Amino acid sequence: MNKLSKILIIEDEPQIRKVIRSNFTDQGVKVLESYLGEEGIRIHASDPVELIILDIGLPDISGIEVARRIREWSAVPIIILSASGQERDKIDALDAGADDYLTKPFSMAELQARIRAVTRRLGSSGIEQTFYKFGNIEVDVQSYKVIKAGVEVHLTPKEFAFLLILLKNINKIVTQKFIINSLWGANHEKDTHYLRIIMKNLRSKLEEDPTRPKFLITELGVGYRFVE
Ligand code: CA
Repeated sequence: MNKLSKILIIEDEPQIRKVIRSNFTDQGVKVLESYLGEEGIRIHASDPVELIILDIGLPDISGIEVARRIREWSAVPIIILSASGQERDKIDALDAGADDYLTKPFSMAELQARIRAVTRRLGSSGIEQTFYKFGNIEVDVQSYKVIKAGVEVHLTPKEFAFLLILLKNINKIVTQKFIINSLWGANHEKDTHYLRIIMKNLRSKLEEDPTRPKFLITELGVGYRFVE
Protein backbone atom coordinates (compact mmCIF):
# COMPACT_ATOMS: atom_id res chain seq x y z
CA MET A 1 0.00 0.00 0.00
CA ASN A 2 2.94 2.25 0.86
CA LYS A 3 4.22 3.49 -2.47
CA LEU A 4 1.00 4.25 -4.34
CA SER A 5 0.92 7.86 -5.40
CA LYS A 6 -1.89 8.01 -7.96
CA ILE A 7 -4.98 5.89 -8.57
CA LEU A 8 -8.06 6.03 -10.79
CA ILE A 9 -11.64 5.20 -9.83
CA ILE A 10 -14.04 4.38 -12.64
CA GLU A 11 -17.41 4.13 -10.93
CA ASP A 12 -20.77 5.77 -11.58
CA GLU A 13 -22.03 5.75 -7.99
CA PRO A 14 -20.92 9.09 -6.48
CA GLN A 15 -21.21 7.72 -2.95
CA ILE A 16 -18.72 4.93 -3.55
CA ARG A 17 -16.35 7.29 -5.35
CA LYS A 18 -16.55 9.67 -2.45
CA VAL A 19 -15.72 7.06 0.20
CA ILE A 20 -12.78 5.69 -1.77
CA ARG A 21 -11.54 9.18 -2.69
CA SER A 22 -11.54 10.51 0.86
CA ASN A 23 -9.86 7.39 2.18
CA PHE A 24 -7.01 7.61 -0.32
CA THR A 25 -6.69 11.38 -0.23
CA ASP A 26 -6.19 11.08 3.53
CA GLN A 27 -3.19 8.86 2.82
CA GLY A 28 -1.71 11.38 0.43
CA VAL A 29 -2.70 9.47 -2.69
CA LYS A 30 -3.83 11.48 -5.71
CA VAL A 31 -7.21 10.20 -6.89
CA LEU A 32 -8.46 10.61 -10.46
CA GLU A 33 -12.11 9.82 -11.15
CA SER A 34 -14.53 9.08 -13.90
CA TYR A 35 -18.10 7.79 -13.97
CA LEU A 36 -17.70 6.63 -17.58
CA GLY A 37 -15.67 3.75 -19.01
CA GLU A 38 -14.48 5.52 -22.17
CA GLU A 39 -13.36 8.55 -20.23
CA GLY A 40 -11.62 6.34 -17.66
CA ILE A 41 -9.57 4.68 -20.41
CA ARG A 42 -8.61 8.11 -21.78
CA ILE A 43 -7.58 9.36 -18.35
CA HIS A 44 -5.25 6.40 -17.78
CA ALA A 45 -3.84 6.79 -21.32
CA SER A 46 -2.99 10.45 -20.89
CA ASP A 47 -2.06 10.40 -17.19
CA PRO A 48 -1.11 6.82 -16.23
CA VAL A 49 -2.02 5.72 -12.71
CA GLU A 50 -0.65 2.93 -10.50
CA LEU A 51 -3.95 1.25 -9.73
CA ILE A 52 -7.47 1.27 -11.16
CA ILE A 53 -10.64 0.53 -9.18
CA LEU A 54 -13.22 -0.34 -11.79
CA ASP A 55 -16.97 -0.82 -11.50
CA ILE A 56 -18.53 -3.43 -13.80
CA GLY A 57 -21.86 -1.66 -14.36
CA LEU A 58 -21.10 1.68 -16.01
CA PRO A 59 -23.45 3.93 -18.02
CA ASP A 60 -21.57 3.72 -21.32
CA ILE A 61 -19.49 0.56 -21.73
CA SER A 62 -19.09 -2.29 -19.25
CA GLY A 63 -16.18 -2.50 -16.87
CA ILE A 64 -15.26 -5.80 -18.54
CA GLU A 65 -14.76 -3.97 -21.83
CA VAL A 66 -12.76 -1.30 -20.02
CA ALA A 67 -10.47 -3.94 -18.45
CA ARG A 68 -9.98 -5.68 -21.78
CA ARG A 69 -9.06 -2.48 -23.60
CA ILE A 70 -6.69 -1.24 -20.89
CA ARG A 71 -4.96 -4.65 -20.86
CA GLU A 72 -4.11 -4.26 -24.54
CA TRP A 73 -1.41 -1.78 -23.59
CA SER A 74 -1.17 -1.48 -19.80
CA ALA A 75 -0.28 -3.86 -16.97
CA VAL A 76 -1.72 -1.54 -14.32
CA PRO A 77 -3.37 -3.50 -11.45
CA ILE A 78 -7.16 -3.47 -11.83
CA ILE A 79 -9.57 -4.27 -9.01
CA ILE A 80 -13.14 -4.83 -10.12
CA LEU A 81 -16.20 -3.79 -8.12
CA SER A 82 -19.30 -5.80 -8.79
CA ALA A 83 -22.83 -5.97 -7.46
CA SER A 84 -23.78 -9.28 -5.88
CA GLY A 85 -25.20 -11.85 -8.24
CA GLN A 86 -22.92 -10.84 -11.08
CA GLU A 87 -20.90 -14.06 -10.83
CA ARG A 88 -20.56 -14.44 -14.59
CA ASP A 89 -19.41 -10.83 -14.94
CA LYS A 90 -16.73 -11.29 -12.31
CA ILE A 91 -15.32 -14.28 -14.16
CA ASP A 92 -15.38 -12.39 -17.45
CA ALA A 93 -13.64 -9.42 -15.84
CA LEU A 94 -10.87 -11.65 -14.45
CA ASP A 95 -10.50 -13.35 -17.82
CA ALA A 96 -10.34 -9.89 -19.42
CA GLY A 97 -7.30 -9.16 -17.26
CA ALA A 98 -8.59 -7.71 -14.00
CA ASP A 99 -6.46 -8.72 -11.01
CA ASP A 100 -9.09 -9.16 -8.37
CA TYR A 101 -12.64 -8.25 -7.44
CA LEU A 102 -14.73 -7.07 -4.54
CA THR A 103 -18.46 -7.53 -4.22
CA LYS A 104 -20.51 -4.55 -3.06
CA PRO A 105 -20.98 -3.64 -0.32
CA PHE A 106 -17.37 -3.88 0.82
CA SER A 107 -15.37 -2.20 3.56
CA MET A 108 -12.36 0.02 3.00
CA ALA A 109 -10.35 -2.53 5.01
CA GLU A 110 -11.25 -5.21 2.45
CA LEU A 111 -10.32 -2.93 -0.41
CA GLN A 112 -6.99 -2.05 1.21
CA ALA A 113 -6.24 -5.75 1.76
CA ARG A 114 -6.88 -6.55 -1.91
CA ILE A 115 -4.73 -3.62 -2.99
CA ARG A 116 -1.88 -4.75 -0.73
CA ALA A 117 -2.05 -8.25 -2.20
CA VAL A 118 -2.06 -6.97 -5.77
CA THR A 119 0.75 -4.47 -5.30
CA ARG A 120 2.90 -6.89 -3.29
CA ARG A 121 2.65 -9.40 -6.11
CA LEU A 122 3.69 -6.80 -8.63
CA GLY A 123 6.55 -5.59 -6.47
CA SER A 124 8.10 -9.04 -6.36
CA SER A 125 7.68 -9.70 -10.07
CA GLY A 126 10.30 -9.18 -12.72
CA ILE A 127 12.40 -12.18 -11.77
CA GLU A 128 10.83 -15.56 -12.30
CA GLN A 129 10.51 -17.13 -8.88
CA THR A 130 11.77 -20.71 -8.73
CA PHE A 131 11.39 -21.48 -5.04
CA TYR A 132 8.36 -21.15 -2.78
CA LYS A 133 7.93 -21.76 0.91
CA PHE A 134 4.63 -21.74 2.77
CA GLY A 135 3.99 -23.28 6.16
CA ASN A 136 6.15 -26.40 6.29
CA ILE A 137 6.02 -26.87 2.53
CA GLU A 138 8.77 -26.06 0.05
CA VAL A 139 8.39 -26.07 -3.71
CA ASP A 140 11.45 -26.15 -5.94
CA VAL A 141 10.24 -25.39 -9.45
CA GLN A 142 13.42 -26.28 -11.32
CA SER A 143 13.78 -29.76 -9.85
CA TYR A 144 9.98 -30.35 -9.69
CA LYS A 145 10.27 -31.17 -6.02
CA VAL A 146 7.75 -30.60 -3.27
CA ILE A 147 8.88 -31.16 0.31
CA LYS A 148 6.46 -31.24 3.23
CA ALA A 149 7.96 -31.23 6.74
CA GLY A 150 11.22 -32.53 5.30
CA VAL A 151 9.63 -35.37 3.34
CA GLU A 152 9.25 -35.35 -0.43
CA VAL A 153 5.63 -35.37 -1.64
CA HIS A 154 4.93 -36.89 -5.02
CA LEU A 155 2.73 -34.74 -7.27
CA THR A 156 1.56 -35.74 -10.74
CA PRO A 157 2.59 -33.38 -13.56
CA LYS A 158 -0.93 -31.88 -13.67
CA GLU A 159 -1.02 -31.42 -9.91
CA PHE A 160 2.36 -29.72 -10.03
CA ALA A 161 1.30 -27.49 -12.94
CA PHE A 162 -1.95 -26.52 -11.17
CA LEU A 163 -0.06 -25.68 -7.96
CA LEU A 164 2.46 -23.63 -9.89
CA ILE A 165 -0.24 -21.56 -11.61
CA LEU A 166 -1.65 -20.67 -8.20
CA LEU A 167 1.77 -19.92 -6.70
CA LYS A 168 2.65 -17.62 -9.59
CA ASN A 169 -0.56 -15.72 -8.88
CA ILE A 170 -0.23 -15.73 -5.12
CA ASN A 171 -3.25 -14.25 -3.30
CA LYS A 172 -4.98 -13.69 -6.60
CA ILE A 173 -8.07 -15.46 -7.91
CA VAL A 174 -7.30 -17.57 -10.93
CA THR A 175 -10.36 -18.48 -12.98
CA GLN A 176 -11.30 -22.05 -13.86
CA LYS A 177 -11.06 -21.14 -17.53
CA PHE A 178 -7.50 -19.87 -17.17
CA ILE A 179 -6.36 -23.00 -15.34
CA ILE A 180 -8.07 -25.32 -17.80
CA ASN A 181 -6.56 -23.49 -20.77
CA SER A 182 -3.13 -23.71 -19.16
CA LEU A 183 -3.40 -27.41 -18.32
CA TRP A 184 -5.20 -28.78 -21.36
CA GLY A 185 -5.54 -26.00 -23.89
CA ALA A 186 -8.78 -24.51 -25.20
CA ASN A 187 -12.01 -26.47 -25.82
CA HIS A 188 -11.99 -28.13 -22.42
CA GLU A 189 -13.93 -25.44 -20.61
CA LYS A 190 -16.63 -27.82 -19.47
CA ASP A 191 -14.11 -30.03 -17.72
CA THR A 192 -14.18 -28.20 -14.41
CA HIS A 193 -14.67 -31.51 -12.57
CA TYR A 194 -11.05 -32.40 -13.41
CA LEU A 195 -9.98 -29.27 -11.58
CA ARG A 196 -11.96 -30.34 -8.53
CA ILE A 197 -10.30 -33.75 -8.57
CA ILE A 198 -6.80 -32.29 -8.89
CA MET A 199 -7.51 -29.75 -6.18
CA LYS A 200 -8.79 -32.48 -3.88
CA ASN A 201 -5.56 -34.43 -4.40
CA LEU A 202 -3.41 -31.36 -3.85
CA ARG A 203 -5.19 -30.61 -0.61
CA SER A 204 -4.87 -34.13 0.71
CA LYS A 205 -1.16 -34.08 -0.10
CA LEU A 206 -0.33 -30.59 1.12
CA GLU A 207 -2.88 -29.28 3.60
CA GLU A 208 -2.80 -30.19 7.30
CA ASP A 209 -6.59 -30.54 7.24
CA PRO A 210 -7.78 -31.03 3.62
CA THR A 211 -11.39 -30.34 4.63
CA ARG A 212 -10.37 -26.94 6.00
CA PRO A 213 -7.64 -25.75 3.64
CA LYS A 214 -5.43 -22.85 4.70
CA PHE A 215 -3.61 -22.28 1.42
CA LEU A 216 -5.58 -23.83 -1.42
CA ILE A 217 -8.84 -21.92 -1.42
CA THR A 218 -11.87 -22.45 -3.67
CA GLU A 219 -13.62 -19.29 -4.87
CA LEU A 220 -17.00 -20.84 -5.46
CA GLY A 221 -18.10 -20.81 -9.08
CA VAL A 222 -15.14 -18.61 -10.10
CA GLY A 223 -11.84 -20.38 -9.57
CA TYR A 224 -9.08 -20.86 -7.03
CA ARG A 225 -6.75 -18.75 -4.96
CA PHE A 226 -3.51 -19.55 -3.15
CA VAL A 227 -3.60 -17.60 0.09
CA GLU A 228 -0.23 -16.72 1.53
CA1 CA B 1 -22.44 0.95 -11.38
